Parts: sequence; structure tokens; C-alpha cells
Amino acid sequence: MSAEPVTQHFRGVLCRHCGKPVRIPGIVSRKDSAYVGKHEENDSQFLLVSRVFVLRCRSCERESIYAINQIVDCALPQPMAAAASHREAAL
Ligand SMILES: [Zn+2]
Repeated sequence: MSAEPVTQHFRGVLCRHCGKPVRIPGIVSRKDSAYVGKHEENDSQFLLVSRVFVLRCRSCERESIYAINQIVDCALPQPMAAAASHREAAL
């Protein structure tokens, strides 16, 4: 087993406003699993499950309606460890 990549993966949608990935809550993730998973034709409960949900973007704090099929695998790159503070000596 090798070391895991530093990139963090999660299920989310891309914000309609700013385009940044927004992580979906667990309950939506369960719907997503039900959506991609096989379902029986007689499973009327599946049809009752809402396939859209409202999500608020943490970056621009705007809400939008997203569909289940818009959920994608998002990769969140780890921030640079050495975030050099650009402070010039202004003397
Ligand atoms: Zn946004």
C-alpha cells in the first residue's frame, strides 16, 4: 500500500455562480447512490425521491437548485504547506 494522494476527493456539484465545487450533504449523497445504483422497475419509492436539491455555495454564499445527475467527483487540492507571506520590507 502506497501513500494516499494529498488531493481530497468528495462528491459535489459545481456552483452555478462561481464554478467552485460544493460538497453535497450526506443525505443527498445517499440519493446519489440510489440514483446510480440499480433499481427495480416496481420500486415506486425510487420515483418519489426528489432528484433535485438546494445547495448553498460556501464560496459565494448563493443558493442554487442542482439535480442529482449533476453530482460529480470533486478534487480539492491541498493548500500549499508553505504559504509564503509576501511581505516586503518597506523601510
Ligand atoms: Zn459559488
